[in-house]
Amino acid sequence: MPESTYSFKQLENLVKKNYTNPDLDLLRRAYQVALGAHQGKIRLTGEPFINHPLAVAHRLAEMGLHINVVVAGLLHDVVEDSEFGIENVREIFGDDIASLVDSVTKLKRNVNYRGVERYAENLRKMFLAMASDVRVVFMKFADRLHNLQTLYAQPKHKQERIARESLEIYAPIAGRLGMSEIKGELEDYAFAYLQPKEYERMKSIMDIKVREKGAYVSRTIDLVEKMLAEAEIENSQVYGRVKRLYSLFKKMKKYSDDLDKIYDLIAVRIVVSDVEDCYAALGVLHQKWRPVPGRIKDYIAQPKPNGYQSLHTTMFTSEGEVVEFQIRTQEMHELSEYGVAAHWRYKEGSGEQERNMRWMEELAQIQKELASKKDFLEQLEYMKIDVFNDRIFVFTPQGDVIDLPEGATPVDFAYAIHSKVGDKCVACRVNDVMRNLDTKLTSGDIVEIVTDKNRKAPNPDWLKFARTRHARKKIKDATRNTIKGWFADVLHGRERAKKG
Ligand code: MN
Repeated sequence: MPESTYSFKQLENLVKKNYTNPDLDLLRRAYQVALGAHQGKIRLTGEPFINHPLAVAHRLAEMGLHINVVVAGLLHDVVEDSEFGIENVREIFGDDIASLVDSVTKLKRNVNYRGVERYAENLRKMFLAMASDVRVVFMKFADRLHNLQTLYAQPKHKQERIARESLEIYAPIAGRLGMSEIKGELEDYAFAYLQPKEYERMKSIMDIKVREKGAYVSRTIDLVEKMLAEAEIENSQVYGRVKRLYSLFKKMKKYSDDLDKIYDLIAVRIVVSDVEDCYAALGVLHQKWRPVPGRIKDYIAQPKPNGYQSLHTTMFTSEGEVVEFQIRTQEMHELSEYGVAAHWRYKEGSGEQERNMRWMEELAQIQKELASKKDFLEQLEYMKIDVFNDRIFVFTPQGDVIDLPEGATPVDFAYAIHSKVGDKCVACRVNDVMRNLDTKLTSGDIVEIVTDKNRKAPNPDWLKFARTRHARKKIKDATRNTIKGWFADVLHGRERAKKG
């Protein structure tokens, strides 16, 4: 598990290493602001609060995201914690950083989480819709990962809630964005709290396997390195990777605890320069060892839905062991660890010294394509998540999420709750402010409907702005009934006050 405490000096050094000409002054100012804002505040772990934004910023810098994201990481809890408002952030740090901080702050709103699958999916959508910018999602992941690292200090009920939310909301989103490294970390932290016994069991299985197979795997790695060198496949890296505990747990369930059916407890990973070398390396392996039938997978020609690419093969190696190999380029590797974030890593180019030049070229190519099509503002636009652009997610005052089409109004909201609430609604409060019923709602709004029990029917004028089919139908039905009723009243010669 990675460290959880970093000094500003460590953050600064990492930024110097990973970025070309970073604005260190900007970074230092953000640190000063954060330091002031969290002055005297202590986390439950007993550490000064500033350790938290420092850890978050450090993680974002490790991911190589734009320096603005790192700065926003330092500032992400400032608005909530102090007099320092979002306007002050905007004044000192500019629009881009302010909008990142603002989005992260808005995402903190407490949501009732009930752990129902249907509901979880809704929350995932809401999370993405509200984040609106992929960079905000990365910030939330960094924030959540550090909170999980320090979860031991929280009271038990909070541990359970945060762990469940991480496993059911955050991890699947990370998975969908192809960020397997972060997904795996989120899952394993959460797993330890949610099923401590199973977690320990998986851990001891892994420990035993690593002890049993460790020496054998390192001999295999040495051998493969030699084989690749003989085949003149240059600049390759070969190393062992151990299966994550939660992922092992899921597989064990699938195979009814039969460990012999799980071939990738320890896999050997081969990272090479280009696609050609991937296939060449596969050929080298298959000439030496016999592949297990049905276990050769070409995710390069046919990537997984989240974009994952690699060649997988399982072989009966010498010494009678069965081993899975994963072959990929450096770029594929970065993509599988960081997913969509890989596209925005090292945006400013830098730190080439240790990085694979080839990969930098490939990345530069992707960026060139991006840049040729769009200017900077359009690129920002490109980063925005448009999957759920046509939906908004608003809250009841109790924290329940209501999913509505874009342009929906409080009337749609009222009918989404219950048709009686719709029929009797007279006014509304949006984020605690009285608003007209035709106000367009936006994701994250908290909407409270004021009803009047004496109200007989909805106002037909609402049809001018009601967006959902459900609300429109209810309004039409109700007004039709009222008119019928009114005619009936007139026919019976009785007077009837027209309402609505
Ligand atoms: Mn935080």
